[in-house]
Amino acid sequence: MPELPEVEGVARELRQRLNQRQIVRVVVTRPRLVAPQSVESFAECLRGASFVDVGRRGKHLLLHLDNAHTLVIHLRMAGRFLYVAPTAPLPKFIHARFELDNDRWLAFQDQRHFAIMRLAPTDSLHQLKELRDLAPEPLGPDFTRDYLRRTLAGTQRPIKEVLLDQTRVAGLGNIYAAEALFAVGIHPLTPANAIPKAKVDYLWQVIRILLESAIEAGSTIDVNPENITGQYFGAAFAEALLVYDREGEPCVRCETPIARIRQAQRSTYFCPKCQRPRAKTTRQARS
Ligand SMILES: [Zn+2]
Repeated sequence: MPELPEVEGVARELRQRLNQRQIVRVVVTRPRLVAPQSVESFAECLRGASFVDVGRRGKHLLLHLDNAHTLVIHLRMAGRFLYVAPTAPLPKFIHARFELDNDRWLAFQDQRHFAIMRLAPTDSLHQLKELRDLAPEPLGPDFTRDYLRRTLAGTQRPIKEVLLDQTRVAGLGNIYAAEALFAVGIHPLTPANAIPKAKVDYLWQVIRILLESAIEAGSTIDVNPENITGQYFGAAFAEALLVYDREGEPCVRCETPIARIRQAQRSTYFCPKCQRPRAKTTRQARS
Protein backbone atom coordinates (compact mmCIF):
# COMPACT_ATOMS: atom_id res chain seq x y z
CA MET A 1 0.00 0.00 0.00
CA PRO A 2 1.50 3.35 -0.99
CA GLU A 3 2.43 5.50 2.01
CA LEU A 4 3.48 9.15 2.13
CA PRO A 5 6.80 8.79 0.24
CA GLU A 6 5.25 6.75 -2.56
CA VAL A 7 2.31 9.14 -2.93
CA GLU A 8 4.76 12.04 -2.99
CA GLY A 9 6.69 10.24 -5.74
CA VAL A 10 3.52 9.76 -7.77
CA ALA A 11 2.61 13.45 -7.28
CA ARG A 12 6.00 14.53 -8.62
CA GLU A 13 5.77 12.27 -11.66
CA LEU A 14 2.28 13.53 -12.47
CA ARG A 15 3.23 17.19 -11.92
CA GLN A 16 5.91 16.90 -14.60
CA ARG A 17 3.47 15.57 -17.17
CA LEU A 18 0.11 17.18 -16.38
CA ASN A 19 1.01 20.83 -15.91
CA GLN A 20 -1.30 22.97 -18.13
CA ARG A 21 -2.66 19.88 -19.89
CA GLN A 22 -6.31 20.19 -20.73
CA ILE A 23 -8.83 17.40 -20.22
CA VAL A 24 -10.75 16.75 -23.43
CA ARG A 25 -12.94 13.91 -22.18
CA VAL A 26 -13.37 11.74 -19.09
CA VAL A 27 -14.55 8.15 -19.17
CA VAL A 28 -15.34 6.40 -15.89
CA THR A 29 -16.00 2.69 -16.21
CA ARG A 30 -16.40 1.98 -12.50
CA PRO A 31 -18.95 4.43 -11.03
CA ARG A 32 -18.08 3.51 -7.44
CA LEU A 33 -14.67 5.12 -7.92
CA VAL A 34 -16.30 8.57 -7.94
CA ALA A 35 -19.44 7.87 -5.85
CA PRO A 36 -21.45 9.51 -4.37
CA GLN A 37 -20.98 11.86 -7.33
CA SER A 38 -22.54 10.60 -10.56
CA VAL A 39 -20.25 9.67 -13.42
CA GLU A 40 -22.02 12.25 -15.60
CA SER A 41 -21.50 15.22 -13.29
CA PHE A 42 -17.94 14.10 -12.52
CA ALA A 43 -17.08 13.97 -16.22
CA GLU A 44 -18.90 17.22 -16.95
CA CYS A 45 -17.03 19.13 -14.23
CA LEU A 46 -13.67 17.94 -15.56
CA ARG A 47 -14.27 18.38 -19.29
CA GLY A 48 -12.33 21.36 -20.64
CA ALA A 49 -10.47 21.96 -17.37
CA SER A 50 -6.67 22.12 -17.25
CA PHE A 51 -4.36 20.82 -14.56
CA VAL A 52 -2.51 23.64 -12.82
CA ASP A 53 -0.63 21.79 -10.10
CA VAL A 54 -0.32 18.42 -8.37
CA GLY A 55 0.04 18.27 -4.60
CA ARG A 56 -0.36 15.83 -1.73
CA ARG A 57 -1.97 15.83 1.69
CA GLY A 58 -1.16 12.79 3.84
CA LYS A 59 -1.63 9.84 1.49
CA HIS A 60 -4.01 11.77 -0.78
CA LEU A 61 -3.06 13.10 -4.20
CA LEU A 62 -4.42 16.56 -5.02
CA LEU A 63 -4.81 17.36 -8.71
CA HIS A 64 -5.62 21.06 -8.86
CA LEU A 65 -7.58 22.33 -11.85
CA ASP A 66 -8.09 25.77 -13.37
CA ASN A 67 -11.87 25.59 -12.80
CA ALA A 68 -11.50 26.13 -9.03
CA HIS A 69 -11.86 22.41 -8.36
CA THR A 70 -9.40 19.83 -7.11
CA LEU A 71 -9.47 16.14 -7.83
CA VAL A 72 -8.61 14.28 -4.61
CA ILE A 73 -7.41 10.70 -4.98
CA HIS A 74 -6.61 8.05 -2.41
CA LEU A 75 -4.78 5.16 -4.04
CA ARG A 76 -5.50 2.80 -1.11
CA MET A 77 -4.08 -0.69 -1.83
CA ALA A 78 -3.37 -0.66 -5.52
CA GLY A 79 -4.53 2.51 -7.29
CA ARG A 80 -2.09 3.54 -10.02
CA PHE A 81 -1.88 6.19 -12.73
CA LEU A 82 -0.71 5.48 -16.26
CA TYR A 83 0.21 8.16 -18.78
CA VAL A 84 0.04 6.58 -22.19
CA ALA A 85 -0.77 6.96 -25.86
CA PRO A 86 -4.37 5.99 -26.76
CA THR A 87 -2.94 3.13 -28.82
CA ALA A 88 -1.04 1.63 -25.87
CA PRO A 89 -2.10 -1.83 -24.77
CA LEU A 90 -3.67 -0.98 -21.42
CA PRO A 91 -3.63 -3.52 -18.60
CA LYS A 92 -6.80 -4.80 -16.93
CA PHE A 93 -8.71 -2.94 -14.20
CA ILE A 94 -8.66 0.51 -15.81
CA HIS A 95 -11.50 2.28 -13.98
CA ALA A 96 -11.18 5.75 -15.45
CA ARG A 97 -9.33 7.61 -18.14
CA PHE A 98 -8.74 11.29 -18.76
CA GLU A 99 -8.19 12.05 -22.43
CA LEU A 100 -5.77 14.96 -22.71
CA ASP A 101 -5.14 17.60 -25.35
CA ASN A 102 -1.73 16.18 -26.30
CA ASP A 103 -2.92 12.83 -27.61
CA ARG A 104 -2.18 11.14 -24.29
CA TRP A 105 -4.43 9.41 -21.79
CA LEU A 106 -4.11 9.59 -18.06
CA ALA A 107 -5.56 6.23 -17.09
CA PHE A 108 -6.37 5.03 -13.61
CA GLN A 109 -5.93 1.37 -12.74
CA ASP A 110 -7.06 -0.28 -9.54
CA GLN A 111 -6.80 -4.05 -9.21
CA ARG A 112 -8.20 -4.05 -5.70
CA HIS A 113 -11.15 -1.66 -6.21
CA PHE A 114 -10.51 0.31 -2.98
CA ALA A 115 -9.26 3.60 -4.46
CA ILE A 116 -11.44 6.71 -4.30
CA MET A 117 -11.69 9.94 -6.34
CA ARG A 118 -13.48 13.05 -5.11
CA LEU A 119 -14.00 16.40 -6.80
CA ALA A 120 -14.11 19.34 -4.42
CA PRO A 121 -13.98 23.12 -4.68
CA THR A 122 -10.32 24.04 -4.15
CA ASP A 123 -11.05 26.84 -1.69
CA SER A 124 -12.92 24.54 0.69
CA LEU A 125 -10.70 21.53 0.20
CA HIS A 126 -9.79 21.34 3.87
CA GLN A 127 -13.46 20.78 4.73
CA LEU A 128 -13.65 17.61 2.66
CA LYS A 129 -14.44 14.62 4.89
CA GLU A 130 -11.32 12.79 3.72
CA LEU A 131 -9.00 15.70 4.55
CA ARG A 132 -10.47 17.72 7.40
CA ASP A 133 -9.41 15.45 10.27
CA LEU A 134 -5.92 14.65 9.01
CA ALA A 135 -3.02 15.24 11.39
CA PRO A 136 -0.38 17.84 10.43
CA GLU A 137 1.97 16.92 7.57
CA PRO A 138 4.88 15.06 9.22
CA LEU A 139 7.41 17.02 7.16
CA GLY A 140 5.63 20.33 7.66
CA PRO A 141 6.06 23.00 10.36
CA ASP A 142 3.04 21.95 12.47
CA PHE A 143 4.32 18.46 13.19
CA THR A 144 6.50 19.56 16.07
CA ARG A 145 8.13 17.62 18.91
CA ASP A 146 5.52 19.14 21.19
CA TYR A 147 2.71 18.01 18.91
CA LEU A 148 3.90 14.41 19.03
CA ARG A 149 4.46 14.56 22.80
CA ARG A 150 0.93 15.87 23.41
CA THR A 151 -0.60 13.39 20.97
CA LEU A 152 1.06 10.34 22.52
CA ALA A 153 0.56 11.54 26.12
CA GLY A 154 -3.18 11.71 25.48
CA THR A 155 -3.78 8.05 24.72
CA GLN A 156 -3.06 4.59 26.07
CA ARG A 157 -3.60 2.97 22.67
CA PRO A 158 -0.70 0.84 21.43
CA ILE A 159 1.89 3.08 19.76
CA LYS A 160 1.76 1.23 16.43
CA GLU A 161 -1.99 1.86 16.15
CA VAL A 162 -1.53 5.55 16.98
CA LEU A 163 1.12 5.88 14.28
CA LEU A 164 -1.29 4.39 11.73
CA ASP A 165 -4.15 6.68 12.81
CA GLN A 166 -4.15 9.40 10.12
CA THR A 167 -5.86 11.85 12.50
CA ARG A 168 -2.84 11.58 14.85
CA VAL A 169 0.11 11.16 12.47
CA ALA A 170 -0.49 11.59 8.73
CA GLY A 171 1.20 9.63 5.99
CA LEU A 172 2.58 6.64 7.86
CA GLY A 173 1.33 3.17 6.97
CA ASN A 174 2.23 -0.32 8.05
CA ILE A 175 5.73 -0.19 6.56
CA TYR A 176 7.09 3.10 7.88
CA ALA A 177 5.38 2.69 11.27
CA ALA A 178 7.19 -0.65 11.74
CA GLU A 179 10.51 0.79 10.59
CA ALA A 180 10.21 3.85 12.85
CA LEU A 181 9.46 1.77 15.94
CA PHE A 182 12.39 -0.53 15.18
CA ALA A 183 14.74 2.43 14.72
CA VAL A 184 13.78 3.81 18.12
CA GLY A 185 13.53 0.43 19.88
CA ILE A 186 9.90 0.65 20.96
CA HIS A 187 7.68 -2.47 21.18
CA PRO A 188 4.65 -1.94 18.91
CA LEU A 189 2.18 -2.81 21.69
CA THR A 190 3.58 -0.21 24.14
CA PRO A 191 0.84 2.15 25.35
CA ALA A 192 1.56 5.50 23.68
CA ASN A 193 1.47 7.41 26.97
CA ALA A 194 4.02 5.06 28.57
CA ILE A 195 6.83 6.03 26.20
CA PRO A 196 9.45 8.23 27.90
CA LYS A 197 9.77 11.78 26.58
CA ALA A 198 13.29 11.24 25.26
CA LYS A 199 12.10 8.30 23.15
CA VAL A 200 9.14 10.30 21.86
CA ASP A 201 11.54 13.04 20.76
CA TYR A 202 13.73 10.44 19.06
CA LEU A 203 10.67 8.92 17.38
CA TRP A 204 9.68 12.37 16.09
CA GLN A 205 13.10 12.75 14.53
CA VAL A 206 13.11 9.22 13.09
CA ILE A 207 9.70 9.61 11.45
CA ARG A 208 10.90 12.69 9.59
CA ILE A 209 14.23 11.21 8.58
CA LEU A 210 12.62 7.96 7.39
CA LEU A 211 10.04 9.75 5.26
CA GLU A 212 12.54 12.22 3.87
CA SER A 213 15.05 9.56 2.90
CA ALA A 214 12.34 7.38 1.37
CA ILE A 215 11.18 10.34 -0.73
CA GLU A 216 14.77 10.96 -1.78
CA ALA A 217 15.16 7.29 -2.70
CA GLY A 218 12.11 7.84 -4.90
CA SER A 219 14.16 7.31 -8.00
CA THR A 220 14.38 3.65 -7.08
CA ILE A 221 10.60 3.32 -6.67
CA ASP A 222 8.91 2.69 -9.95
CA VAL A 223 6.13 5.26 -9.98
CA ASN A 224 6.77 6.15 -13.63
CA PRO A 225 3.25 6.33 -15.12
CA GLU A 226 4.63 5.56 -18.56
CA ASN A 227 5.69 2.11 -17.46
CA ILE A 228 2.55 0.12 -18.14
CA THR A 229 3.75 -3.07 -16.51
CA GLY A 230 5.44 -1.44 -13.51
CA GLN A 231 4.37 -1.36 -9.89
CA TYR A 232 4.85 1.07 -7.03
CA PHE A 233 7.30 -0.96 -4.99
CA GLY A 234 10.75 -1.54 -6.44
CA ALA A 235 13.20 -4.14 -5.18
CA ALA A 236 15.84 -1.52 -4.39
CA PHE A 237 13.49 0.15 -1.96
CA ALA A 238 12.39 -3.07 -0.24
CA GLU A 239 16.04 -3.78 0.56
CA ALA A 240 16.19 -0.64 2.69
CA LEU A 241 13.48 -1.93 5.04
CA LEU A 242 14.93 -3.52 8.17
CA VAL A 243 11.94 -5.27 9.77
CA TYR A 244 8.94 -4.93 7.48
CA ASP A 245 8.10 -8.27 5.80
CA ARG A 246 11.23 -9.88 7.29
CA GLU A 247 9.66 -12.41 9.65
CA GLY A 248 12.25 -15.03 10.68
CA GLU A 249 15.20 -13.15 9.20
CA PRO A 250 17.99 -12.13 11.60
CA CYS A 251 17.74 -8.61 13.07
CA VAL A 252 20.45 -6.38 11.56
CA ARG A 253 21.47 -5.31 15.07
CA CYS A 254 21.26 -8.40 17.29
CA GLU A 255 20.54 -11.30 14.90
CA THR A 256 17.39 -12.30 16.82
CA PRO A 257 14.80 -13.51 14.28
CA ILE A 258 12.30 -10.78 13.39
CA ALA A 259 8.86 -11.56 14.79
CA ARG A 260 5.41 -10.95 13.32
CA ILE A 261 2.21 -10.46 15.29
CA ARG A 262 -1.34 -9.59 14.30
CA GLN A 263 -2.31 -6.16 15.49
CA ALA A 264 -5.54 -4.39 14.55
CA GLN A 265 -6.07 -6.90 11.69
CA ARG A 266 -2.66 -6.23 10.21
CA SER A 267 0.81 -7.74 10.42
CA THR A 268 3.29 -6.02 12.70
CA TYR A 269 7.00 -6.82 12.36
CA PHE A 270 9.52 -6.16 15.11
CA CYS A 271 12.67 -7.45 16.80
CA PRO A 272 11.68 -9.11 20.11
CA LYS A 273 15.05 -8.19 21.62
CA CYS A 274 15.75 -4.64 20.35
CA GLN A 275 12.09 -3.70 20.91
CA ARG A 276 11.59 -5.52 24.21
CA PRO A 277 8.61 -4.22 26.19
CA ARG A 278 9.73 -2.32 29.27
CA ALA A 279 9.23 -4.33 32.46
CA LYS A 280 6.48 -3.02 34.73
CA THR A 281 8.86 -2.86 37.69
CA THR A 282 11.16 -0.54 35.76
CA ARG A 283 8.29 1.78 35.00
CA GLN A 284 7.13 1.82 38.63
CA ALA A 285 10.65 2.42 39.88
CA ARG A 286 10.98 5.46 37.61
CA SER A 287 7.66 7.05 38.44
ZN1 LIG B 1 17.35 -6.91 17.29
